[in-house]
Amino acid sequence: MPIGGATADAIAVGGGLAGSAFALELARHGVSTMVFERMRGPHHKVCGEFLSDRAQALLHYLGVDVAALGGSPVETLCLSSGATRASARLPFEAVGISRLLLDETLLQAAERAGAKIYRATSVERLEARVQRVRVQTAGASFECRAAALASGKHNIRGLPRPDAPMVGFKMHLHTAKAARASLMRMVHLIAFTGGYLGLCLIENGTLSIAWIVSAAVLTSIGTSWAAQSAYFARQSPFFEELTTGATPAWEKPLAVAGLPYGFMRSATIAETIYPVGDQLAVIPSFSGDGTALALASGIAAAQAVLNGESASSFQRRMLANYKPQFRRALILDRVIADARLRRAGIVGARLFPSIVTMLVSATRLSGLDRLITSADART
Ligand SMILES: Cc1cc2nc3c(=O)[nH]c(=O)nc-3n(C[C@H](O)[C@H](O)[C@H](O)COP(=O)(O)OP(=O)(O)OC[C@H]3O[C@@H](n4cnc5c(N)ncnc54)[C@H](O)[C@@H]3O)c2cc1C
Repeated sequence: MPIGGATADAIAVGGGLAGSAFALELARHGVSTMVFERMRGPHHKVCGEFLSDRAQALLHYLGVDVAALGGSPVETLCLSSGATRASARLPFEAVGISRLLLDETLLQAAERAGAKIYRATSVERLEARVQRVRVQTAGASFECRAAALASGKHNIRGLPRPDAPMVGFKMHLHTAKAARASLMRMVHLIAFTGGYLGLCLIENGTLSIAWIVSAAVLTSIGTSWAAQSAYFARQSPFFEELTTGATPAWEKPLAVAGLPYGFMRSATIAETIYPVGDQLAVIPSFSGDGTALALASGIAAAQAVLNGESASSFQRRMLANYKPQFRRALILDRVIADARLRRAGIVGARLFPSIVTMLVSATRLSGLDRLITSADART
């Protein structure tokens, strides 16, 4: 636990990818920074664990050697709905890597750069004072010049995001040998009535499965892995094929409710409080670039603090950059939600796989080169 009353130039509320990126970028530029993370140690998170080339480039910029983490390479995307499926080459080499390993690696890198990490420390409130921010934890309060709101899927009191009917889950499985050939170097996106699943291998050959499902469908099928996986198998023979003989690594799946897809925080909290990651904006996970957005916004918020840019200007600039990417991702999400449209889409993808490759590119984060090169110029 931190000593109450301590001050720092900057505080990250949350030690996920966005909070750690913010802290690391500031600490390595000599700014005194603290990170408050509510969990005691490394932990799993609801996420498909698919890292795009953009996310990898941002991690590289932060000094993390992604290749050394031992993830599984991903080159091909396989889309399916019922018995219809299509494959296309990704426009880049992606990697499957657990968030447990990735988030802990980045948090430790922030610590090595000089940030002070306080684990098992939950922030209860953020309050803007004149030129300062007061950060209230369960046991003490702290002051800083600038804070990043980086609590991800969890909201801080008084700073809500809209509620939504989608629920997210994640499960790890030890795969059977027979299915491995269909899983190697592939990310599978499987649509079903009420949601979709993403499957990819991560380090040690473990299969990571993340899915979102509407609360209404969940009520009728139940929340246990046994009930949900039986439903997926009924909806998708391909899901059954990929998971036959696999054993769950956990007793029950991780879950997070009320995912506000399409949310963009345009209202300013205070000129000294910078929302980052899922607290700034939530892209539909089907396009799978949330980790790149979290890293990019954490780095950009740190650069804003270094350059004396206000939070309102930072938010305007970031959201304007996100808008085209979000628009395309939301259209894709609607196509996936509609059974007829997605079947037609997959048949089209089988005939013209290059269109899928193009769509994957279109839902990636743009403006990244500017972010990294402007920062490179300063270091
Ligand atoms: C089903 C699903 C699948 C996804 N799949 C992918 C994918 O394959 N690839 C991809 O790039 N993106 C994916 N995403 C998106 C991605 O997971 C998020 O965008 C990303 O995790 C956001 O990072 P973050 O740092 O903002 O938040 P988080 O990763 O949620 O981190 C927030 C941190 O803050 C801590 N915290 C919370 N509240 C407090 C508090 N009060 N005090 C202190 N600490 C606190 C938490 O413990 C946590 O460590 C997926 C999302 C979902 C829901």
